[in-house]
Amino acid sequence: TNRISFRMLINQHTLLFGDTACLGQPKHIGSIDPACNVTEVVRDAYVSAKMLCEKYYMTAPELKIEEINSKAPKKPIQVVYVPSHLFHMLFELFKNSMRATVELYENSSEGLPPVKAMVTLGKEDLSIKISDKGGGVPLQKIDRLFNYTYSTAPTPHLVPSQTAVPLAGFGYGLPICRLYARYFQGELSLYSIEGFGTDAVIHLKALSSDSFERLPVFNKSAWRHYQTGPEADDWSNPSSDPRDASTY
Ligand code: ADP
Ligand code: MG
Repeated sequence: TNRISFRMLINQHTLLFGDTACLGQPKHIGSIDPACNVTEVVRDAYVSAKMLCEKYYMTAPELKIEEINSKAPKKPIQVVYVPSHLFHMLFELFKNSMRATVELYENSSEGLPPVKAMVTLGKEDLSIKISDKGGGVPLQKIDRLFNYTYSTAPTPHLVPSQTAVPLAGFGYGLPICRLYARYFQGELSLYSIEGFGTDAVIHLKALSSDSFERLPVFNKSAWRHYQTGPEADDWSNPSSDPRDASTY
């Protein structure tokens, strides 16, 4: 989260005061779009994920978008946001949905079921739901999907001379996606029905006054909270003492 914040500051500064300051998007304020058209970003992220998916699987599911603006029906849904963050989150969700869909229907004679996106604006929340029929994940495993490096795809081998980007396998798509969502007071939740498919919902704040930066606070009581956490250690959550295996 701190890294997202640093990058945001550096980007913002160079975009506003750097040599190429006037070459950017004229209506943007640095990396912030005061009227970010959410459905357009959904479409862009879908197109990018689709290209990647087609490269690996020679096929990709279609996209169906539904827009519900409960504040101003029939008007496009806009929000003050950093489009690159939104793109990043949606790109990850589309890649996951596409992989699940294609892998489930690989040997089936029916066509691929489309991935659906629903963009909804309410008074407080702007929600984006990405739904697929890729077979879903059992309830027991849902929390695990947010662990860094958890992936059911084979680990990709990166060859420096090749620029091919893997579709999946590093296992940090979802946890980082959730950091981006939470960074401006939003949330990412996964609802899955095993045997059917998955709904991933990004909740954002509809009002810019609510979407202030959320940073980790390291004070004494926060530290105590981290120390008593029941999670097992990993590189993202190191501990100084070896754990007592009989307790865990
Ligand atoms: P990666 O895509 O690199 O594996 P992610 O963090 O994006 O890492 O996802 C972790 C795992 O969660 C995936 O490997 C997959 O098993 C599971 N997963 C995520 N999204 C879906 C989905 N829409 N349907 C089924 N499984 C999913
Ligand atoms: Mg992924």
